[in-house]
Amino acid sequence: MADDDIRIVLMGPPGVGKGTQAKLLTETLAVPHISSGDLFRTNYQEATPLGMQIKKYMTEGLLVPENITISIVMEAVLSSQAKKGFILDGFPRTITQAEALDQALTKQNKFVDFTLNIDVPTEQLVKRLASRLLCSSCQTTYNTETQPPKSEGLCDLCNTPLYQRDDDGQAAVKKRFQVYNNDSRPLLKYYGSQGKLINIDGTGTLMKVHQHLLQAISNISSNNIPG
Ligand code: AMP
Repeated sequence: MADDDIRIVLMGPPGVGKGTQAKLLTETLAVPHISSGDLFRTNYQEATPLGMQIKKYMTEGLLVPENITISIVMEAVLSSQAKKGFILDGFPRTITQAEALDQALTKQNKFVDFTLNIDVPTEQLVKRLASRLLCSSCQTTYNTETQPPKSEGLCDLCNTPLYQRDDDGQAAVKKRFQVYNNDSRPLLKYYGSQGKLINIDGTGTLMKVHQHLLQAISNISSNNIPG
């Protein structure tokens, strides 16, 4: 990397833990976590005009149309808070989005440094999604099996009730995996061909995966760029 800036894309199938890992990484790297899913969910929960427009796509596990997604994420990516970088989670999900991101950054002489692709077998992910709970206020993620909250149904951090995402139901999960395989998997090749793809084993504990991610970032920072 040319300077202290750091621009990371976190990738991986639904339920792989991108949001949780991104939150942990922001504490170490001191750059904002930009999650397209969180941006959309906030609008959806607050019933903003945008929220009403995207509700159908989100609950059915479909992609929100490109023009809406690209404009909302680019606003965050190009904001002053993200001047020194970002950890992007949930975006890009298509080649069109990746190209839009590259173009917007290039105009500012910036670029994505690398993509960390967290992988876990699909069967494990389906189980994880079925037991996932989310805080309706701060969006912290829990899992009733592997990472339960201290008080049942309440967020450890802000005591707000937890809920299950509409799109973690069986039908929407199936659709989300189809969409991931069709639209998002090609991104592995996109970033791989730029020499920017690093695969991370996501099957261990939350902290183990966090360590893998930190190690990968530290290898890159010391110019040990993997082939
Ligand atoms: P996530 O929290 O990343 O799993 O995203 C939840 C939902 O938000 C997705 O299933 C989509 O409906 C929508 N969404 C999030 N990010 C994108 C994106 N980059 N492109 C299109 N739709 C998105």
